[in-house]
Amino acid sequence: MLHPRISDPKVTRRILHAFGLRASKRFGQNFLVSEAVVDGIVRAADIREGDRVLEIGPGIGTLTQGLLEAGAHVTAVEIDKKLPDVLAETLKGYENFTLIRGDILKTNIRACMGDAPFKVAANLPYYITTPILLGLLEQKLPITELVTMVQREVAERMIARPGSRTYGSLSVAVQYHSRPEIVLHVPRRSFIPAPDVESAVIACHVREEPAVACRDEKMFFRVIKAAFGQRRKTLLNALTGTGKTKDEIRAAFEAAGMDETRRGETLSLEEFARIADVLSDVESDVQGICRSCGGKAADGRME
Ligand code: SAM
Repeated sequence: MLHPRISDPKVTRRILHAFGLRASKRFGQNFLVSEAVVDGIVRAADIREGDRVLEIGPGIGTLTQGLLEAGAHVTAVEIDKKLPDVLAETLKGYENFTLIRGDILKTNIRACMGDAPFKVAANLPYYITTPILLGLLEQKLPITELVTMVQREVAERMIARPGSRTYGSLSVAVQYHSRPEIVLHVPRRSFIPAPDVESAVIACHVREEPAVACRDEKMFFRVIKAAFGQRRKTLLNALTGTGKTKDEIRAAFEAAGMDETRRGETLSLEEFARIADVLSDVESDVQGICRSCGGKAADGRME
């Protein structure tokens, strides 16, 4: 069956008109109207016949159509109650499409996608870009490629290197789990309605193992949160946000052979891991004492 291209602006306008739809600001709706961008996302995700793909926010089915045409089996999660009826019409005749109506942030993705590897492709709702991306990466789902349209400034933060103005906790978290790469710059005219910001497609090639080995991932992220929560402070001051005392932090920097007067934005992932490892040793030393008294502290708080 030959389907009209939803990405054609005339087709998109016709669909919106036929269903009496208005793009909802609340749901961050900006519909793609560029076949080149749809193709770019499909190519960046290296979609092959039979690939399993999770799409976030299919909208009226524009990117979904590109993914299905490339042979993917698409499971899409959409929050807007008005859209299932539209998708039933715009994607009529395509097999291998499953729609889940709900909020991606509340969806049990592992239950929906199972344990086999899958890819993620999306033109994301910008108001929740960070929780979506970090949620997907931190759950350690069997995702191989994560290709998404995001606000350009967010894409730049994701790929930022130490020492640059845009380097922050998002850069570290994304680069810890993946190798991010900007694959397309997307102008505002590629959407209806045109958004207020420039966009970019970013491909995160998900790593099988994190970029750096750290013994205590929780401490690694506590350090990062504290370091970038107070960007202007030296690490000696900022890392008190981890709950450690200044003496402990000073000792940790000495043991790691690092300078405590540096600021978080200058540290590489390896350096964050090194300082987190030493700081977590301080913690395990305390636990060690408790273990030596039979695994329970006197007040019974620690097991
Ligand atoms: N994929 C379509 C396209 O490229 O034209 C629409 C993209 S639009 C930028 C974002 C989509 O995400 C909308 O369809 C919107 O309703 C949906 N959305 C917004 N918040 C969501 C959420 N929390 N969970 C699932 N979908 C959401």
